Amino acid sequence: MLVDCPECEQRVSDRAAACPQCGFPIAAEWEARREREAADADRTSREKIGEVDCESCSARGFVTEGPDDRPGPFHWCAICEHSGRIPLVRSPRGYWAVAFVSLDAFLGGEDVGPPNVVFIGEHAPEGHRYDQAGPRAKPAADE
Ligand SMILES: [Zn+2]
Ligand SMILES: [Zn+2]
Repeated sequence: MLVDCPECEQRVSDRAAACPQCGFPIAAEWEARREREAADADRTSREKIGEVDCESCSARGFVTEGPDDRPGPFHWCAICEHSGRIPLVRSPRGYWAVAFVSLDAFLGGEDVGPPNVVFIGEHAPEGHRYDQAGPRAKPAADE
């Protein structure tokens, strides 16, 4: 594909490493543009399709603060709001586990990072660790 060099407007192949006239890094620039377009398309095509086990608490609904395996004080998992499961969202790129509190923002196209939004991969997760999700409860604010 021939494109205009953003620097000097010379017509040049989008695969050229550099513009023959001015040296602008064409291929890298167009690769970055394609990445951005794919990311934009991905952001606007998110859809909640179900629920997935909460990784933050291993679907238990609570997390312990004790070091290693020692039991310590435990508190509700804020990601799944005590239920052990969180929304599963599909986009063209794959599947995402999304904290309840971040669901609207994520579906609305915002970038949300871990632990609230975790990319699962190209394949939907299968099954649940427990038969039923627990009741949701809003966790208390961090003390
Ligand atoms: Zn150029
Ligand atoms: Zn959880």
